[in-house]
Amino acid sequence: MIRYIACLKCGEQFHVHSEDVNEGWQVRKRTGKATRPSDFGVTVSGGGKSTFLPYQEMVCDICNRPMPDGSIVTAITMWRNEPEPDNWEKTEYSMEVT
Ligand SMILES: [Zn+2]
Repeated sequence: MIRYIACLKCGEQFHVHSEDVNEGWQVRKRTGKATRPSDFGVTVSGGGKSTFLPYQEMVCDICNRPMPDGSIVTAITMWRNEPEPDNWEKTEYSMEVT
């Protein structure tokens, strides 16, 4: 599975190449209001301790544009040779599909 959280512009422009379709890739795009996950950040370890540094906002996986909580974003999921992936947009990003 491949997945992206993208700004509206990138989400609209994203498409699957015909070669990928011929190789069995499927795509799902959902657009809606999203909020970053509560555990969205990075853990830095060193000197015998670990520190969690939360990200302050979502960032488009394609163009790196900041996307504040509550932004309308597009979640893109691609998969092949497996069942359709679960609803990660809802469970992780609390996405309200519009
Ligand atoms: Zn973008």
